[in-house]
Formats: sequence, structure tokens, C-alpha cells
Amino acid sequence: MPLRARTLLGPGPSNPYPEATIALGQPLLGHLDPVFLGVLDETSERLRQVFGTANRRTLPLSATGSAGMEAAFVNTVGPGDVVVVAVNGLFGQRMVDVASRCGAEVVAVEHEWGQPVDAERVLAAHPAPKLIAAVHAETSTGVRSDLEPLAAGKGDALLLADCVTSLGGIPVQLDDWGVDLAYSGSQKCLGVAPGLAPFTINDRAWERRIEKPQSWYLDLGLLGGYAGEAAGAGRTYHHTAPTGMVVSLHAALGRILEEGLDAVHARHAEAGRLLHEGLAQLGLELFAAEGFRLPELTTVKVPDGVDSAAVRKELLERFDVEIGGGVGPYAATVWRIGLMGPNAAPDKVALVLAALKELLG
Ligand code: PLP
Repeated sequence: MPLRARTLLGPGPSNPYPEATIALGQPLLGHLDPVFLGVLDETSERLRQVFGTANRRTLPLSATGSAGMEAAFVNTVGPGDVVVVAVNGLFGQRMVDVASRCGAEVVAVEHEWGQPVDAERVLAAHPAPKLIAAVHAETSTGVRSDLEPLAAGKGDALLLADCVTSLGGIPVQLDDWGVDLAYSGSQKCLGVAPGLAPFTINDRAWERRIEKPQSWYLDLGLLGGYAGEAAGAGRTYHHTAPTGMVVSLHAALGRILEEGLDAVHARHAEAGRLLHEGLAQLGLELFAAEGFRLPELTTVKVPDGVDSAAVRKELLERFDVEIGGGVGPYAATVWRIGLMGPNAAPDKVALVLAALKELLG
């Protein structure tokens, strides 16, 4: 059955870069084929560039962004370890849940939704945590939190960053900032279909990892025998890597690096600026705190008396445009509009603004 082509302007997935889609049509390779292993190594190298890191343990995990989150916690914290989590939205809350399931003693530092993380409060929450975790770009609220102040004050703790919505959309410089481990997702600003979780961990975090984590699938020690650190000969089977997806990610990263990271970030920034301006001209109010608004994910308040779900349904049915509703306490009062990857472009901004104008009268 042919599916309709939608313009995916929600919180993800985004429409992929054409290069990523074309790559999916290539002949399938085996996961131990030397040609594929070359692509995998080059993918890790390209990921290092977008993450801003020299970490040799950088690889795409074979699962979605949440598996990146699980891998980060399950490999670094166990029963009794203290974890401080900055919570300013849904994905911070998910980190609390995941860390708790590892048996960690979790200190959740709650923030008002729509506000960035307050590094001082987070750093003061416990004198000696094993790990501090924060979401760089909170997709539930459209807010950026700066990671540098957390890194500057982390002391002996490890710093974990969720870069699912930031990577490929806004600057990420893990090594310069002092982030020890991070993960992302393929389906947002990287412009690939959902299914892979880019992941990176530095030596400092690696040396303190759990030797035998309770997850076999996400055990970075076992995965290292296949991907990331085991470049070249001597690679062993761990699981059947989704080779088509890796080839697609490789192509999208190639496209991003060819355009230039600075240019890609500038394109997202400009699209976000145009959208924010256009929404204001329609009389709509933005939700996220000024100065911390993500260009790639905009949260906008649903006007009083407007049925949020009905507007989204009409956008989809009449214009083939998908936007997101809010989440948690803001499920019915906020819309989320994504401009990610190839969709960070003026024509997509014009489309969603024109469609909203038509529907809101
Ligand atoms: N973290 C953030 C900030 C996200 O936006 C998402 C997904 O939207 C996730 C984690 C989870 O990723 P996934 O849905 O790919 O498992």
C-alpha cells in the first residue's frame, strides 16, 4: 500500500536527508563484510566530528535514543551509586526512571518546565555523586541547557548528556565542554529514519564503568569487540547490526559534514528564527524561556478556546503536515514544531505558518 508523503514537523522523526534515503536502496551488506566494517568505522569517525570528541569509543548503537540512555546508565551506575539528574522536562524524568532501575540512589533536581537547567542547584544537590546527568535539548519543552557550567563544577563526578535533539542541530562540543559520555538518536537533526543511537564515552568514564552490566545487549565492553574501539581486524560477532541503517546514517553524516557543521547549525538557527518571528506575527506565544529556545524544536502555546488535537488532525489531513502536541502537564496546551535536518529550511517554515494561519483564522 503506498503511504502518503508527510512533512514531518513534529518532535521527531523528521524527514530524512535525501542522501540517507538513497543509501537505504543500496544492496544490503553483511554485518561482518569488510566493506561494511569500513563504513562502520567511517561512521564512528563522522560521529566524532559532530559530537566534538576524540573518544575512540564512539559508535551507533542498534536501537533508538532511549537505548542510548539505558546504555549510558547501565554501564556506569549500579546499586547504591549516587546519580544527580537535572529534570526540566519529560526526558529528564525518563533518566530518573532509568537510573533508578539500575539501583542507583537518584537525586532528582526538579525545574519548572520551559526553563533551562540551573547548574548551581544541580551541582549543590549532592557533595559526591558518581554521575550527573542532564538533557542538552529538552524535546518536551523546546529548551536548551548549557552543559559547560555543569562540567566546570562536576568535580570527580562523571557528566552524562542527552544529545538526542541537539546533535546536528545546534553546536555540540563534548570534549571542550568536559562531557564524559553522551548519546543521541538518528531521527532528529541527523536526518535519518529512527533506529540508531549514536553513543560516545571517554576514557575517564570507561575506566569507572560497571564490569558486567545487567544488560547483555547494551554491554559496551562486549560491543567494543565489534564496533567503536575494535577498528580493523579481530572483530567478533555481538549482534546482527542493522547494516542498512548504518549505511544510511553514514550518508547523512557525510551530507552534514560536506555542508559544514557551522553552516548546518546556522541553517537551523535561521529557520528557528524565522519560525519564532512568524508565530509572533500570528499572535501566538512561545512557551520556552527566551534566550534558551531551540531553533530545531519550538514550543508554542495553544490559544485559549482552540482544540489542540483538532488543529493537529486538520494539519495532517488537509496539508500532510505533522506537528506534535505537548507532553505531560502541557499535553493539550502546547504544540511542538520541529525544524530538523533537511526540514530546517525557509519553505518548511512558510508551509507550517501558512497552514496554521488558515486553520486559526
Ligand atoms: N531524549 C530526548 C531528548 C528525546 O527527545 C527522545 C525522543 O524523542 C529520547 C531521549 C528518546 O529517544 P527515542 O524515542 O528515539 O527512544
